[in-house]
Amino acid sequence: MTERVTAHPVAPPEALPALERWWGSLRRREPLFPEAVVQRSSERLGSLEADVVIAGGTLGILLGAALAKRGWRVVLLERGLLRGRDQEWNTSRQELQVLLTLELLTPAELEQVQVTHYPSGRIGFRGGPSWWVEDVLNVGVDPVGLLQCLKQRFLEWGGQLLEQQTFVGATVHPDGIHIQTDRGKMTAQLLLDAMGHRSPVVAQARQGQWPDSVCLVVGSCAQGLPALDSGDLFYSFSPTQPGYQPFWEAFPARDGRTTYLFTYCDIQEGRPSLSALWQHYLQQLPHYQGVDLTEITWVRKLCGVFPAYRRSPLQLPWDRLLAVGDSSGSQSPLSFGGFGAMLRHLARLEQGIHDALSWRQLEQQALALLQPYQPNLAVTWLFQKAMIPPLNQNNWDPDRINRLLSQVFAALFAAGPQVVKPFLQDVVQFGGLAQALWGVMSRDPLLVAQLLPQVGLEELTRWTGHLTALGIYDLLYRVTGTRAEKHASYTWKHRREAWCYGSGRDHAG
Ligand SMILES: Cc1cc2nc3c(=O)[nH]c(=O)nc-3n(C[C@H](O)[C@H](O)[C@H](O)COP(=O)(O)OP(=O)(O)OC[C@H]3O[C@@H](n4cnc5c(N)ncnc54)[C@H](O)[C@@H]3O)c2cc1C
Repeated sequence: MTERVTAHPVAPPEALPALERWWGSLRRREPLFPEAVVQRSSERLGSLEADVVIAGGTLGILLGAALAKRGWRVVLLERGLLRGRDQEWNTSRQELQVLLTLELLTPAELEQVQVTHYPSGRIGFRGGPSWWVEDVLNVGVDPVGLLQCLKQRFLEWGGQLLEQQTFVGATVHPDGIHIQTDRGKMTAQLLLDAMGHRSPVVAQARQGQWPDSVCLVVGSCAQGLPALDSGDLFYSFSPTQPGYQPFWEAFPARDGRTTYLFTYCDIQEGRPSLSALWQHYLQQLPHYQGVDLTEITWVRKLCGVFPAYRRSPLQLPWDRLLAVGDSSGSQSPLSFGGFGAMLRHLARLEQGIHDALSWRQLEQQALALLQPYQPNLAVTWLFQKAMIPPLNQNNWDPDRINRLLSQVFAALFAAGPQVVKPFLQDVVQFGGLAQALWGVMSRDPLLVAQLLPQVGLEELTRWTGHLTALGIYDLLYRVTGTRAEKHASYTWKHRREAWCYGSGRDHAG
């Protein structure tokens, strides 16, 4: 049933040891003692040097450029150099249109940063059929090229870029926020935290809470693999391993072929280490891609530990502070596609921040409306939970997760592309989800019944609440129409937007 993992001589990714230490400390549930980097003061600051300071440049530059274009005084703080990573971000062409709509890139630049494209992606699970889907996550964006273009625009529109400058702390005053860096200080109306999921601001806001789950990823971009022009979006060919269910992703990349092995875990000692996953990856890659390891030239080896918190998107507990990008937890706990999530919310956030600055809506409750509860993200927790096998696998069918996923996707594909495509792009909609659930229950009621002890009553009750909220959000969005949209107050406008995005009604279809 299980595959023995033996040590293989190919060196692991450079980032693995540091991530392994962090993942190890999480699995041992070592207490986290976040620093108090945000303080409050009742003193007034007087005149302010900037409207917005953005800490963290990777995704921060997207909002930075958009806000600078609007004419706001924006300062972008980046502890390194503002340069994207070499590995492409996969997304869908339609999601990139926002960069044109907001006029951040020209059509020619948008074409230029899309460095790979493959027609269709496969979905399949051991022992079941395979499905092919077109135009979903099949475009590879070059982060280096994209950030270079955005940086140029940002500077042209008057933005101030402070590279190699680290955010150290902030003090919230009644009329502004004071930001301390390792090399200086500045004042602004608003601070955007775009420092990723290890942001010190988020650590303080979460008060030392451990993530509720993680997605572990290892993989590479390599040459010497068969040059297929198709991809795998979600694929599995193994039964459950001790403590985890392995899944694979593969797609053509600019410098070769990218392959990832990933799995979902809760925070428990018995879950696999990253090194064990890396060994599993090396052992199974030849079988998966039909290649001998000795024929491979490694271009990049990759790994990641993506934490997920149920309390997401995160609403920061301070005035004048808003989390964006991975730090906000607004990406799906299934895909962890933070770039895709930023594209999806970019126009909404850009408009929302513009409104908050224009209407002086910078107190905590007003900013919380810009990172609202999203039932369509919350319902996906059950799917994640269903893909995490129990640690004690007595009487556990090692193909149960594969069978369940085959049934879920059979139901999704039977419901049609209008249901399956948004789902694969992290946009769960009430109608589509209801159709899929009904499909699975009628196909294999026993399998669904077996799910209950695996996920537990508490999880199921919580999920029922989110599903109900999804239906209510959908209804509220539809019945309120665009009534008085033009003259709507800040609160009404952004509450209605929360119903739209929270029910997946923003998806263009
Ligand atoms: C292997 C791998 C593959 C991925 N593939 C995809 C994909 O195909 N599609 C997709 O949508 N997403 C993908 N992602 C996820 C995507 O890369 C992230 O969601 C995205 O990078 C998040 O950006 P961010 O700016 O929010 O956070 P980060 O990428 O973590 O960036 C944070 C930024 O803040 C800076 N910073 C941190 N602390 C400070 C400080 N104290 N002061 C100043 N600056 C600071 C950092 O230098 C960095 O530039 C992938 C991730 C990995 C690891």
